Amino acid sequence: MICPLCHKVEAELFHTDRTRTFYKCPDCTIIFVPRNQIISKEEEKSRYDTHNNDETDPHYREYYLRTVDPVVRELFPEMKGLDFGCGRTQLMKTLFSEKGFRMDSYDPFYVPDESIWDKDYDFIVMNEVIEHLADPVATLSDLRKISRGPLFVRTKLYPESDFGKWFYMRDPTHIQFFSLKALAEIGKVKVLGEDLYRIEWK
Ligand SMILES: [Zn+2]
Repeated sequence: MICPLCHKVEAELFHTDRTRTFYKCPDCTIIFVPRNQIISKEEEKSRYDTHNNDETDPHYREYYLRTVDPVVRELFPEMKGLDFGCGRTQLMKTLFSEKGFRMDSYDPFYVPDESIWDKDYDFIVMNEVIEHLADPVATLSDLRKISRGPLFVRTKLYPESDFGKWFYMRDPTHIQFFSLKALAEIGKVKVLGEDLYRIEWK
């Protein structure tokens, strides 16, 4: 099975659970689920439909601010961003605009505003999105074309041991898992905080 990220080498079987198998690329070290085992788009959406999206819930705002605050420190006022894979809520856009930034939201299920592809952005945010992408290389390459600046990624890096006990791998909408080395396939990585990375496109 060819690695879906670096496309360089055959990935090796790494882990199996009751419903899925996981392969690991010996080169870029990404761990992924073969694409013939991923759930349908309908099933995927019905799972996202159950996510908590109460924008007035302080815990929910706090969760978003854990991304917004460190990202804002990397930016200059008036920069224009894209929240790619925003989900059902546009809270990210609201919080960025409260801090003086312009932002568009996009989500293939909830905000399918295809006009983003005709624009340019100073920065792009993917908040727990990259682990869901069916074709990460195609999506990242599309995003790079509309990007003038860094990509900010929030995702959980997989643990060095006990992968099978890790809660993140059990979500059926999570179909790839990164290490720092795997993120570096996209570009130069700077760690901004727990699970939050700034990437300069290659
Ligand atoms: Zn690879």
